[in-house]
Amino acid sequence: HATILHMKKTIPLIVGNWKCNPKTLAEAEVLATGVAKAHKKSESPYVVVGPTALHTTAVVKKVATSSVRIAAQNASPYAIGAHTGEFAVSQIKDSGATFVIIGHSERRAAGETDAEVLAKTQAVLAGKITPIICIGEKGRDRNGNFFKEVEKQIHSFARELTPAQLKKVVIAYEPIWAIGTGKTATAEDVKEMQLFIEKVLTKLHDRKTAQSVRLLYGGSVKPHNAAELHTVGSMGGFLVGGASLKAKDFMAIVAAVI
Ligand code: PEP
Repeated sequence: HATILHMKKTIPLIVGNWKCNPKTLAEAEVLATGVAKAHKKSESPYVVVGPTALHTTAVVKKVATSSVRIAAQNASPYAIGAHTGEFAVSQIKDSGATFVIIGHSERRAAGETDAEVLAKTQAVLAGKITPIICIGEKGRDRNGNFFKEVEKQIHSFARELTPAQLKKVVIAYEPIWAIGTGKTATAEDVKEMQLFIEKVLTKLHDRKTAQSVRLLYGGSVKPHNAAELHTVGSMGGFLVGGASLKAKDFMAIVAAVI
């Protein structure tokens, strides 16, 4: 079950992005064990955790007998070889990860371009695992110019992919102003963006393709706001940063979407 195609779109997908946390391998193992214990044999919702590459092997072992899946936080656009500091998709897959977060705003802020996001997406798709492509506006304005910003990001990869490829992609809408800030888009804003993204994808391809793409919301999702963001926002799940670092909080978010 390596790709998103084998997952029912009606079942939410909750992804924890651990970023460059926690401090030690021992803490990562405790966190992974906590999530695995709480999500032993359940495919509703789908639960994914994204440790640092350094902790992946150990985390994979800790979740081995559970239903928890693994995401990498980045991937090289290149195959194995002379690329110091990179992780090739084949290595990521071999490590046990079946998702790769691509173009997170923190990476884009560090210089990652739309072209690199596309190249990485294509490498991940070629490797037959699932890219989670992050998009989102820097800020909001009264005139709605932020929709243009989001549309441009979508075009930069979705135009270059075939409908068959697009169906294998997850798009995470993460307004940058909501990441790690405690501010969230309102559930109505999330719903509006869900419709907008679908419209953009429909224009590029067709309605059926657009509706087959799973969308996630990310940006200060917490146990207290998850249920409303989920039901009103009507995305296919969440990408969770800060709250994924405590098993209890993360599992409360998981419980909120069932
Ligand atoms: C993220 O990093 O993808 C994220 C959504 O972070 P947070 O939940 O902490 O806002």
